[in-house]
Amino acid sequence: MKVKVGKRFDGRPVMLVPHEVIPVDALPQCNFCEKTGEFDFKTNLGPWANGCEQHWRMYRGYRELGIGKGQLWVDRKTVEEVIR
Ligand SMILES: [Zn+2]
Repeated sequence: MKVKVGKRFDGRPVMLVPHEVIPVDALPQCNFCEKTGEFDFKTNLGPWANGCEQHWRMYRGYRELGIGKGQLWVDRKTVEEVIR
């Protein structure tokens, strides 16, 4: 089975999942600190934000990713198709 795998900005591999782990052209900065904001998520305050893993865990409105909850973004250039 062919799957698509990308790399998180710290190098950890992650499998792409529609609406949950998605490729983007560029990763923004975390809205709460200077790190890369690889999560795009609905906060527990209501608005959406971009956040690093630490601030996603701190401010996320949902523990899981998905439509209306949040996504993990990976750089499109790191995505490869692999056989599992
Ligand atoms: Zn942060």
